[in-house]
Amino acid sequence: MKYSFRTIAAGVMLAAMICCIAPSMTSCKNANATSSEKAQAVAVRTSSDSLDTPQAAQDGSIPQGARILMEVYPTFVKGYKDGRLLMSDGSTIVYDDGRKKSFVELLDDADPEDMFAFKYDLDSWTPGKMQDAGRSRCEELFKKMYGNSAKAVSSKLVAVRWPFGAATNKGGVNKNIKTVKFTTVNGANKQLEKVVAELEKHPELHKYLAQSGAFYWRPVRGAKRQSAHSYGMTIDIGVKYSDYWRNQSTNENANIAYRNKYPHEIVEIFEKHGFIWGGRWYHYDTMHFEYRPEILKASGR
Ligand SMILES: [Zn+2]
Repeated sequence: MKYSFRTIAAGVMLAAMICCIAPSMTSCKNANATSSEKAQAVAVRTSSDSLDTPQAAQDGSIPQGARILMEVYPTFVKGYKDGRLLMSDGSTIVYDDGRKKSFVELLDDADPEDMFAFKYDLDSWTPGKMQDAGRSRCEELFKKMYGNSAKAVSSKLVAVRWPFGAATNKGGVNKNIKTVKFTTVNGANKQLEKVVAELEKHPELHKYLAQSGAFYWRPVRGAKRQSAHSYGMTIDIGVKYSDYWRNQSTNENANIAYRNKYPHEIVEIFEKHGFIWGGRWYHYDTMHFEYRPEILKASGR
């Protein structure tokens, strides 16, 4: 297989293998704001009481995944009622469509509940069979948050300092590219800044950190869904050291042998700030890091 991806900082196009699906978890910022968010959630439920049943105001009636989404994406997910997420723009999203889905359907046609169907296992560095936590994304939710077009997503991007350079298409590193465009939505740019600050303290890791692009509005190769790179909260790094499942097979149902050449220290720093790693997927994509605090939260972080 091959993936092509583009680096962006200078509009440079690189050809490389890439990835593009990504997962991950926990926003420390949000995790620390638990009490105020609870208060907010309660307030929301109260305000909707006129339309509501008394039961809906009970915490027990809110699925765990919906509660996590309210906690980590408080700007957008304001409440839950009658099986729907209540969004800040007044719209709603069906939380669980009730359909039984195949593995591929869980990726291509996910409702919010499906995003929690897989285990992001922080206790093992070898992903469980067919466990791809984070590859499943409810597009309706992500487009509402990050933007529903290249233009809409682009309008929320800012330059984040990335002092480790960008990969060139000849396998080298362009040190003159010192920023990467990342979204301000959900504070993802701020979380990436924290990742950078920690990575800077580890010179031994810097050779793995040349970036190969973040924002790129496009579908996942061979699939109907948008790549996580479409939303501006995903970055690929260290392509030179990357491994990608599609180099073994393009069939999602095939047996895939796990491979990884990335130091786990890098992964732990990203995860600490709410990013999941594609190397924790059975269908691994080790260059891929994606801001997905809900996945980390669900993993117990
Ligand atoms: Zn990627």
